[in-house]
This record gives sequence, C-alpha cells and structure tokens, in this order.
Amino acid sequence: MLRSSNPLLAGVEPYDPKYLPADVMVSANEMTFDVPAAVRAAVVDRLADLAFNRYPDPLANELRDSIAQWYGLARDNVICGNGGDELLFNLALAWGGAGNSLINVPPTFSVYAANAHLTGTTVVDVPRRTDFTLDEDAIVERASKGDVGTVIITSPNNPTGDLASREFVERLLNATDALVLLDEAYIEFAPEGSSCLPLLAKHENLVILHTFSKAFRLAGVRLGYLLCSPRVASELTKVRQPYSVDAVSQAIALEVVKNRAAFAEGIQMVKAERERLAAGLAELPGVTVYPSFANFLCVRFDRDAGKLWQDLYDRGILVRDFSANPATRNCLRISVGTPEENDKVLNAIKELANV
Ligand code: PMP
Repeated sequence: MLRSSNPLLAGVEPYDPKYLPADVMVSANEMTFDVPAAVRAAVVDRLADLAFNRYPDPLANELRDSIAQWYGLARDNVICGNGGDELLFNLALAWGGAGNSLINVPPTFSVYAANAHLTGTTVVDVPRRTDFTLDEDAIVERASKGDVGTVIITSPNNPTGDLASREFVERLLNATDALVLLDEAYIEFAPEGSSCLPLLAKHENLVILHTFSKAFRLAGVRLGYLLCSPRVASELTKVRQPYSVDAVSQAIALEVVKNRAAFAEGIQMVKAERERLAAGLAELPGVTVYPSFANFLCVRFDRDAGKLWQDLYDRGILVRDFSANPATRNCLRISVGTPEENDKVLNAIKELANV
C-alpha cells in the first residue's frame, strides 16, 4: 500500500538525456578531453590532504571568494551549487511557486519548464521565431505587465546556439522587477565581451548562471555558480541544501579557478572546430546549420532526423535528437568534439546523405 505522491508529479516524465555508450559522445555538450594534466596533478595533490570525515564549508566560501575575485565582485555576489541544475531548481523554489509565473522562451533548456511544473509555477511561453531568434519586443512587453516572478533568457541558448544582445537584456531589466535569470552556461565559447556581467552592478534583479561543466571540463564534478546581487544570494541561502557542494568538488573547482588560463586553448580549439564543422555540414544538400556561439551546433535536416539519429548511433556516434519537439522538428544537436571526432561526424552524415 502506498499513498499517492504529490499531485504535481502526475504525468511527469523523469529527465532522460538518452546518454548511451558510444564511440563518439557528442550529445551532452561536454568537452571530449579531460582537464589539463598539470591541473589534474594539482587537484590530486590538494585531495591528498582533504579531511573526508568533516562536513564541507556549507557555503563554499573560499570558492566564492576565488570566483568573486575572478570577476571583480564580492563574496556575497556569488552562490555555488551542485551543478547549474541545482541552482536552477533553487531559483524556482525562491521566486516561483503557486501564484507565481515564469516567462520561458522555447525552444530552450527543458529543465526550466520542468522546475516550474514541480514548484507549481505557471509557465508563460513567449516562443522564439521559426529561425530561433528572440521575439525581443514580445518578451519585454509581457514582462512589463508586472505579474511575473521570473524571466529566463539563455545566452547562448541550448539547443539553438544563439546569443542574446546586451541591449535587449538591459531593456528587459529596465522593464520589470522580475528576477531575470541569464543562463550563460556556454558563454565562454562566445566572442569576448558577450557576457552581460557588466549589467550586474546596475540591476539588482539580474542573475547570471555559469557552470564548470562545459568550458572547464568538469561535467562529472557538478559545480555551477550564480553571479547576483547580495539580496538574491541571501534569499537563495534560505532554500539551498546545506551541503550540496561537497568538499571534493570545492577542492577541484578551487584548482580550476586558479589555473583557469590553462583552459583557454581548449576553448579556442572548440570555437575553431565549431566553424569548420558548421561549414562542412552547411555544404551538404538539405542541411541547415543555425549560427552557434556555444560548443554545439543545432542542425536541421530536410528528412527524418529521428532515423538519422539512429543511423549515426549505429555507426558509434551519439548526438542529441530534438525532432520530437515541433519547434525543432528534424533537428539534431551535435556537440563539437576533437578534430578527429568532428571528421567522423561529418563523414558519417555525408555518407548517410547519399543513401
Ligand atoms: N543551463 C544550460 C543552458 C545547460 O545546457 C545546462 C547543462 N545541460 C545547464 C544549465 C546545467 O549544467 P550543469 O548542471 O552541468 O552545471
């Protein structure tokens, strides 16, 4: 015998990224290569002295300080979480809930709407145009009605790859007192100066999400952080799980922040490979490659992309299939890998295109 769970769980499909074993793993926007050897060695050294028997610093203050210093901010402008995912959920708890609403801009990261659903938050969709550009006027107009708790803008957006302009974000911030979450999980792959960080000093309602999972190659470690006003940070400390950022993750991230310059070469390689892969795919008939500022490409095919996904998987290549969503019909999202992996992807799609 078991009582029913929370009615909000009715019909919820558990998050399933279809993360299957494959020779070429280009489905989850990870980096293919691990952290640089010297950084790994420094991490191992630091872990050798770590007290496993003691609870970690609940707020990860040493890490907050080092991230704050990186961006010219203060400790109370930074909150760390167990991946960006945990912080997204904490924001939904703190600014969502029954009677609150979220402006969502699909197609985008599905976790936002899922968190809204779980917290009883009403989702107000302001969809992207068919070419995936933001309907800036519609978003600002809807936000300025004054009845929404949160607006989430993803820049670069997952899965479409486009960037929100700073002018637009500033216009939005001026139009509303809602919490504006700018998810910059992929910002390190965008041109220098694309981040909206400079707006933080003037706008208490701006929250910027970054993660160590992408450019800093720590997807397995689970560490993300928010850059925000002290008031937002203080509200979030009320909902967060006290020890969600464990001592091992804190130690690893401290070394990565200290040695962040060592990651620049990998980021540059991915940016260059993204352009090469995009150009190679764009040459193929029946293929549309959307401009991307992230470490992946959103690619639309003029045929059944679900079948193409399977054909690629049968050849040992795992990409992400977005064709079930009408807005991304026949779209696959392909993460940028190493030059060898990108060649494999390109050659397989070329061959399959001729079938
Ligand atoms: N935001 C976006 C747009 C993402 O794509 C992801 C990862 N898929 C995240 C946040 C969360 O990443 P993580 O939990 O690994 O930090």
